[in-house]
Amino acid sequence: MSLFRLPKGLIADLHRLSARFWWGTGTDKRNLHWGSWRKLCCSKNGGGLGFRDLTIFNKVLLAKQVWRLIHQPNTLAGKVLKQRYFPDSSVMEVSCGNSSSFLWKSLMWGREIIEVGARWRIGSGSSVRIYKDRWIPKPSSFMVVSPASLDPNATVDTLKTQSGAWNERLIRDNFVLDDAKAILSIPCSSSIATDSIFWSYEKFGSYTVKSGYHLGYSMLSSPGSSGLSLSESWWKSLWRIQVPAKVKLFLWRASHNWIPTNSNLAKRGVLMDSLCLICRRRSESTMHSLWCCPALKAIRAGCPFMRGIKFLRDFRNANSGGNSSAGGSNIVVPSWRPPDCGTLKINRDAAVDSMTGKIGIGVIIRDSRGEVLASSAQTISASLSASTAEALAVFSCLIFARDSGLSPVIIESDAQVVVNLINSGNIPLSDIGLIIHDINQVLRNFPSCRVSFVSRLANMAAHSLAKYGLLIASDLFWLEEFPSCVAPAVMGDRPSLL
Ligand SMILES: [Zn+2]
Repeated sequence: MSLFRLPKGLIADLHRLSARFWWGTGTDKRNLHWGSWRKLCCSKNGGGLGFRDLTIFNKVLLAKQVWRLIHQPNTLAGKVLKQRYFPDSSVMEVSCGNSSSFLWKSLMWGREIIEVGARWRIGSGSSVRIYKDRWIPKPSSFMVVSPASLDPNATVDTLKTQSGAWNERLIRDNFVLDDAKAILSIPCSSSIATDSIFWSYEKFGSYTVKSGYHLGYSMLSSPGSSGLSLSESWWKSLWRIQVPAKVKLFLWRASHNWIPTNSNLAKRGVLMDSLCLICRRRSESTMHSLWCCPALKAIRAGCPFMRGIKFLRDFRNANSGGNSSAGGSNIVVPSWRPPDCGTLKINRDAAVDSMTGKIGIGVIIRDSRGEVLASSAQTISASLSASTAEALAVFSCLIFARDSGLSPVIIESDAQVVVNLINSGNIPLSDIGLIIHDINQVLRNFPSCRVSFVSRLANMAAHSLAKYGLLIASDLFWLEEFPSCVAPAVMGDRPSLL
């Protein structure tokens, strides 16, 4: 399945067998199939049960092989396939000839997933074409929509200045607002020159079968085709109910009107009479049989199940109240810790305002007594993701520490993902990888500096400065001072007041 495209007939047989098993059909007996296999394959939050559609699954497994050909070209299989099918181009550019092997045709079919979900990470930009390649962070096309006012075959490096930064004026003059905003939000690296392809549906850019499957399912399902009318939040709340799984499955079937009421059986020609057998007044629909039938009122009133629910609710409320009061006294609130004598500590944070597209960066430098040596609130106009903004904040902080001669120094950030990436040495394939690589390059030549994680509650001074950065028009710096808005956090952090 992960090497060849399975025949449609085989997949249809497998789906048929799975559906028969699910709807309880034996070999000698025909049961009703209340919903189509496609509806069962829909995600649980979309109203289905998340069963695998084998056509899509087959395709995303083949896409995984194509991904390996892109990122692991030196494997034996990669070398053989390159020599045979794309000696002078790349796996993403080569076309599938009629005389290709079944294996290669299968891989080219799987490539369609990568073509839709991958985009270029810009290093120098010299191998990415502005108008023809997928490279800007704008789902779902990832392509520029502006009319081609530059050379139609121009590459992305022509949009950069000699220093490697974006030429903002050129971009704003030649692209529509949305495109310009997206381009300017791509981080520029000073240390990575190679352009590479990353998977845009994963945070760190590596292809996974899970995210590929979700993309493949959305590609093959036309909007509204599933006919599942209830909202995603409703389905989520259904699956969260704390009852046995068989009760949830019954509620799920009832929500789809897939239970054998007289009305449903009459529609399918199993019964002639759709009237309710108990009250004989109305047609026995799902709503009538579970809620509206007059005979149910007496049953509900005397039902021990309903009384049991009330008892359990009271029991849970009583217990949760007790636990919270008992646990409250044991909660330890993290607080800022001063560095060792002779070492400086820089706390930094970033705040993102997605409405205005602004990023605020707060930095505060303190010594072992908690005295503030310098602080800053900066503002950047760029639509970056939160983690990319956090990484950018660490990088600017690092450059400042190095250029100011601060040593030894500890940089603290409350972005655990970013700190873990820096300390692990792994460089993600996505845009954030450009900044992480730059940070590691600087750290290599600046050994007296280290980056560590700190809880948000112990980083409140930098957090307040970052929030302040969202309100200002230009960057502000203070020496041995700080703005009044961060005074409570700074005073609270001082060792003498702890
Ligand atoms: Zn009735």
